[in-house]
Amino acid sequence: MGLEEKLPSGVLLSTVEGLAGYMRKASFWPATFGLACCAIEMMTFGAPRFDSSRFGMEVFRPSPRQADLMIVAGRVSNKMAPVLRQIYDQMAEPKYVLAMGVCASSGGMFNNYAIVQGVDHVVPVDMYLPGCPPRPEMLIDAVLKLHDKVQHTKLGVNRELEIREQETVALSA
Ligand code: SF4
Repeated sequence: MGLEEKLPSGVLLSTVEGLAGYMRKASFWPATFGLACCAIEMMTFGAPRFDSSRFGMEVFRPSPRQADLMIVAGRVSNKMAPVLRQIYDQMAEPKYVLAMGVCASSGGMFNNYAIVQGVDHVVPVDMYLPGCPPRPEMLIDAVLKLHDKVQHTKLGVNRELEIREQETVALSA
């Protein structure tokens, strides 16, 4: 008889890693970080109508040291890139980055010398969200998809290294 069959119903088995992932995904701490028009939709996502608190993440932190999610909402200028990187470096591990909108994801319509052509040139990106601007419902969808990633993050893994390795594998495929 297997262990599951011996246990009374209602008993859930998990690993420490699984439990940590579950608790992490239910308590994101986003950094307060808006760069352009997409940030308006991000603010709406946090307001009562869309109510991001349903997903345990209503409190945007003013300090990167208290944050573990960076939502890059808007285009990133070359001047802003080192600041963005510094904020990322100051955030708590394990940390996640969501590129919100086409500008953050690829430079969008700003194909010029002043704008970084995708924030993944500066920080590792976990989730890309298309749209100009993406609606708050789309941001909710991206956050829920990110939850899956968080649930399966291994303890003690260097996230940046992991993402860069995945990018290399994808490029060489
Ligand atoms: Fe603005 Fe559109 Fe770029 Fe978002 S994707 S920052 S809405 S221009």
